[in-house]
Amino acid sequence: DFPVSTTTATELLRVDGIAKRFGEFSALSGIDLTVRKGEFLCLLGPSGCGKTTLLRIIAGLEVPTAGSLQLNQRDVTRLPPSERDYGIVFQSYALFPNLNVADNIAYGLKGRREDKLRRVNELLDLIGLAGIDAKFPAQLSGGQQQRVALARALATSPGLLLLDEPLSALDARVREHLRREIKALQQKLGVTTIMVTHDQEEALTMADRIVVMNHGVIEQVGTPEEIYAQPASRFVADFVGQSNWIDATFSAEAGVQVNQLGIALQTLPALAVGQRELSLFIRPEDIELHAHWEGGAMGEANTALGDIEKIELLGGFYRLGINVPLWGNLRLNVDVSRSTYQRMRLSPERRVPLTLPADKLRAFSK
Ligand code: ATP
Repeated sequence: DFPVSTTTATELLRVDGIAKRFGEFSALSGIDLTVRKGEFLCLLGPSGCGKTTLLRIIAGLEVPTAGSLQLNQRDVTRLPPSERDYGIVFQSYALFPNLNVADNIAYGLKGRREDKLRRVNELLDLIGLAGIDAKFPAQLSGGQQQRVALARALATSPGLLLLDEPLSALDARVREHLRREIKALQQKLGVTTIMVTHDQEEALTMADRIVVMNHGVIEQVGTPEEIYAQPASRFVADFVGQSNWIDATFSAEAGVQVNQLGIALQTLPALAVGQRELSLFIRPEDIELHAHWEGGAMGEANTALGDIEKIELLGGFYRLGINVPLWGNLRLNVDVSRSTYQRMRLSPERRVPLTLPADKLRAFSK
């Protein structure tokens, strides 16, 4: 009898039922995940959610309490790090301080000296640092050191690249620049990449798919667009992006209501029998403001009058704090572009009709 592998050709890594306990503390439980060949996957979550522990288990630097890992359809759960085919970059640059750049990059390479030198120069070209091979880590900026660490991780052309918060020690401008460079490099090489980050913007801009984690479990796996527009849980909605939460009720006769006024929704969540309390979710930029409203009475068509109470300029857009008396003095954050703001001549204490578009509202059970 042979075990039948259910992995497919497009899968590089399969994580099956991984759990990790540290004494009494459960850091990870029931982690199932498949990583596709060539994709950029981000493990995203708050401090302590277990994302680093998961990456370390994949790297073989930590032994799981339960579950298995298959890399290229081979069980690697018990293999030491050196026998798994990956390169890794840590948050702290972790270069050997006593080796120059060339020797740092060549560290894991085997073979003849000329071949190694050629590979080192290839990699230096790739990361845009040709000519610095004789420098020592202490002579480099943080961004340069992290590029060298990346070159070292890629030196043996591994099948998998693991990145553990590689940008978090860098200042904002360097970080943004390197984000783009790493993403471009990853696409050029087509190397399957798993990156740990607590930074939602980093995950949204870099990942093909995001794995949102919380308290040692996976909350949602999806493309950045799916995670942002269709969060699967309240946690995901709040962790990625800005949210408005609206108390609502549901009954078979009246449907969904806010302050006893009907609200139309495109989709309803599966509700437990007899459940009446809901939370509606909508992003601040998805609420529509109207210069004029001729669509019917206030309270109909998800539309009501709001009083602008607070205005903040947040760089490229305005965030308005709006109170809606009709919906029970509901307080909403509404984001509008600067051009919309100016065109509509918005100002504090203005009254504006606003609409909660049915296709942008999501309902969560309370
Ligand atoms: P951070 O971004 O802060 O590193 P994280 O999501 O990466 O957070 P992990 O480092 O994976 O979280 O840690 C998850 C939990 O497991 C934390 O509560 C941490 O304190 C605990 N933990 C991690 N390693 C150990 C260990 N060796 N011994 C005991 N507890 C640990």
